[in-house]
Amino acid sequence: MRLLSLIFFIAIVQAGFAQILIKNINVADVENKKMLAGYNVVALDGKIVSVDKGKQYKLPEGTEVIDGSGKWLVPGFTDAHVHFFQSGGLYTRPDVIDLRRYRSHDTELTWLHGNMEDFLRRYSNSGITSVIDVGASYAFLAQRDSFLNKPYAPLIRMTGPLLTTWVPEVYKNLGKESPFEEMLTEEGVRKSVNDQIPAHTDFIKIWYIVTDPDKEKGARKNLPLVAAAIDEAHKNNLRVAVHATERITAQLAVEAGADFLVHGVWDEVISDEFVQLLKKKKTVLCPTMVVRDNYGKVLGDHYHFTTDELAMANSVTIATVLDYPQPDTAIAARYIKNMASPQQAAQQKMTDSIMLTNLKKLVAGGVIIASGTDAGNIGTQHASSYFEELKAMQDAGMNAWQLLEASTINGAKAIGQENEWGSISKNKLANMLVLSANPLDDIGNWRKIDRVIIKGISYIPGSLINSSPEMLAQQQLNAYNAHDLEAFLAPYADDVEIYFFPDKLQMKGKEKMRNAYQFITKTPGLYCRLVNRIIEGNMVIDQEEVWGFGKEPVHAIAMYLIQEGKIKKVYFKQ
Ligand SMILES: [Zn+2]
Repeated sequence: MRLLSLIFFIAIVQAGFAQILIKNINVADVENKKMLAGYNVVALDGKIVSVDKGKQYKLPEGTEVIDGSGKWLVPGFTDAHVHFFQSGGLYTRPDVIDLRRYRSHDTELTWLHGNMEDFLRRYSNSGITSVIDVGASYAFLAQRDSFLNKPYAPLIRMTGPLLTTWVPEVYKNLGKESPFEEMLTEEGVRKSVNDQIPAHTDFIKIWYIVTDPDKEKGARKNLPLVAAAIDEAHKNNLRVAVHATERITAQLAVEAGADFLVHGVWDEVISDEFVQLLKKKKTVLCPTMVVRDNYGKVLGDHYHFTTDELAMANSVTIATVLDYPQPDTAIAARYIKNMASPQQAAQQKMTDSIMLTNLKKLVAGGVIIASGTDAGNIGTQHASSYFEELKAMQDAGMNAWQLLEASTINGAKAIGQENEWGSISKNKLANMLVLSANPLDDIGNWRKIDRVIIKGISYIPGSLINSSPEMLAQQQLNAYNAHDLEAFLAPYADDVEIYFFPDKLQMKGKEKMRNAYQFITKTPGLYCRLVNRIIEGNMVIDQEEVWGFGKEPVHAIAMYLIQEGKIKKVYFKQ
């Protein structure tokens, strides 16, 4: 009797669509930095309704029960700094490298709208169940609404165009696709803030750029416009994110009420007073440690993709980086020379060291840090760059709990939504990950995802991605060019058949391929240039030029037949 009276019964009888019970699991309480062993978590209609130990449940038929024994439950991760108007590829920032002769900005934007779903799926699949777009456009705000009820989509929080003190020439006159709105007068700035409200912006973003060589003078000159935008946003209950990478602009923005600094300070080592200011104001800071270096690596032609990146990121985007210095070797040569100069190397080294020191000081001072990548910028891929960012934050001395906090609840805090999502607590959004290894032991374990739970519905990783035939063909081509055998084999079916056209079977099975293709890791100059591609249903036909075997390229045609999301047959004709 005594025992029975201790057992509490919850009857959940509402007609909900997403009941899930995760039993006897280690729950990461990111707010109190505690691992709660042997807990049960129940989600219903997209929300967490119970986090407890030892309760009994009467659940409706059809409830999914996950045995969490020996597993860990963490809140889904948040990338607090992304841009859907940028692909991560070479053509995405014409203000940095102008290749619009080869691919117009219109083409890039059309491609980006067409691939937003793919990027979202890759985020979810990687366990990143919330993304904060800190600089979009009216066109992307409208598209965001179309993903609201898509089961695979992470939570998307987005601002409209950045309010800025300076607009790069190439971004002028883009209409609804414009990511920028120039701040000219205080009145105009207040109007710009109000214009975003009917489009349901989630917050306001300011690009606080100083072009004056006297940074302090320039920063103070632009301050009234920045302050007006912050004031108007706050009057409308909108939080304000600010890009301010100099110490002076960051300080003035925070003093004026900025809620969220989307980068760290890059130009000088911050003072204790600066740290105290952020702590006192509860300003959230997203350090974005890798984006700057990634530009340097891509444009300097020494970006190295990991196997994980080649598998996780959008392959069409990655291809543009791998094909560099194409399409214009003359333009590329200038960048490569510049990036290799001793001044540039010294500058980069200095900035890296400042960023590292500053993040250490911010963490030690108790400032709220949110993990974010600035994905979409050249070389910083959507979804996959997150794990590179975490490594960089770890290198700055952040421990596992600090990283978990930064990657979950602090993302929500950045835009003032910590009561709605970001931790595993009652009444919060049921976006969670079941991990098969302890996330506190190693950040590599954050990738050991058994289940991604989005709005209370569980998915097996892999099932969230829906790679097109083109993407699969490109994925193996990228890995070939990156000389990565494992990544090369990944998109092939286990029982793949390779033919000499039309019907001479050359080999069958992935293991045979593994042996036959060892050369891709051992042939230094190996590079397969795509000359032409035809996509016809589930068939991709590539005309290729393969360099690396002697002086002249080998010309070949490869036909890839895709079935059930894998490359099932290949026909070669030389
Ligand atoms: Zn950004």
